[in-house]
Amino acid sequence: MIPLAVPDLTGNEALYLQECIASTFVSSVGPFVDRFEAMVSAAAGSTRAVATSAGTTGLHAALTAVGVGRDDLVILPAFTFIGSANAIAHCGALPWLLDVESEGWTLDPEQLEIELCQRTERRGEREVIHRPSGRRVAAVMPVHVLGNPAEMDAIVAIARRHGLPVVADAAAALGARAHGRAIAALEAELTVFSFNGNKTVTCGGGGAVVGNDPALLDLVRHLTTTARHGEEYDHDRVGFNYRMTNLQAAVGCAQLERLDALVAAKQRIRARYDAACHDWPGVTPFPVPAWAKSACWFSGVVLPEGLEPAATRALYGAFRAAGVAARPFWKPIHLQLPYRDAPRTALPVSEAIAPRILTLPCSAGLTVAEQDHVIATADRLLAG
Ligand SMILES: *Cc1c(COP(=O)(O)O)cnc(C)c1O
Repeated sequence: MIPLAVPDLTGNEALYLQECIASTFVSSVGPFVDRFEAMVSAAAGSTRAVATSAGTTGLHAALTAVGVGRDDLVILPAFTFIGSANAIAHCGALPWLLDVESEGWTLDPEQLEIELCQRTERRGEREVIHRPSGRRVAAVMPVHVLGNPAEMDAIVAIARRHGLPVVADAAAALGARAHGRAIAALEAELTVFSFNGNKTVTCGGGGAVVGNDPALLDLVRHLTTTARHGEEYDHDRVGFNYRMTNLQAAVGCAQLERLDALVAAKQRIRARYDAACHDWPGVTPFPVPAWAKSACWFSGVVLPEGLEPAATRALYGAFRAAGVAARPFWKPIHLQLPYRDAPRTALPVSEAIAPRILTLPCSAGLTVAEQDHVIATADRLLAG
């Protein structure tokens, strides 16, 4: 079976892990953590980074740092991984779900502006209140979905005008560019990456919060390290134990040494599927906006409109029978049990695209021969 996405650990990963063991630095203090933070920051185009135990915990700490708290709302696109919504829920808040645009499947800035104008009002100088629920809106959380950057210039401008901080979920977007700029140069207060096992760059598990405001990044670091100050056991608020370990960072450093090659491999794989799918009736490539360079985290195709769920399931089975791991992708957040009551707009794009996405093998280490087999299988199953 050609797997969907497995890590490529052929660099210095094993060497650096052995260094951790030999030095006994296996926990959250260690030279690889510092090096990893510097490398992530440089790759992301930011000045500061705080490594975390996961992308989700990084998001939770970032949202807490910008002031998201109990009963608040955080604006989130419905088309995202459930971890984005869970980070909001871990703050005691709820996602307010908006749709994505069809050009790149990221948060629709036009709808963001309309919803903020029509459904919120100012209370005092600083508070934005969602009129239908009476809840405070505390932040906007665009998602750089699948490695596609969101339209940050527009989103940040709208958020600033409404007095809202922006925390970007860039989980799988390290290496992406928008208008030629790196992902964390896009002006969100905080940007959060994931280094989970299936991401292009992995630490086994892990995350990082990056940004340019030293005070805010210090607060994130404080929150992730049990909010301890000084050498004695004094803690000034309820903090988290969300730090990355030196073991995770050792793997991460070895991965980041090859970031450009890993992202380039992902982009090459995407380009081959994009070219091949023109021969399959009704099938379209994953979209990438003209102004963006996607990090191409996952690849695959968009199946024809109107395919019955049973036919789609049969298709997955046929791919697997041919030794090709093909899978469906995320269901939008409003269709997930924990978030069925979250406030939301109409979500036609999220609902239309989600059932049509077919992910195909796209490990950075996928060989040309393996991808030939995937494409030949798709030729047989999708051309008719
Ligand atoms: C992977 C991912 C996450 C979660 O990251 P973890 O490291 O698994 O916690 C969150 N949001 C998006 C968009 C992701 O792709």
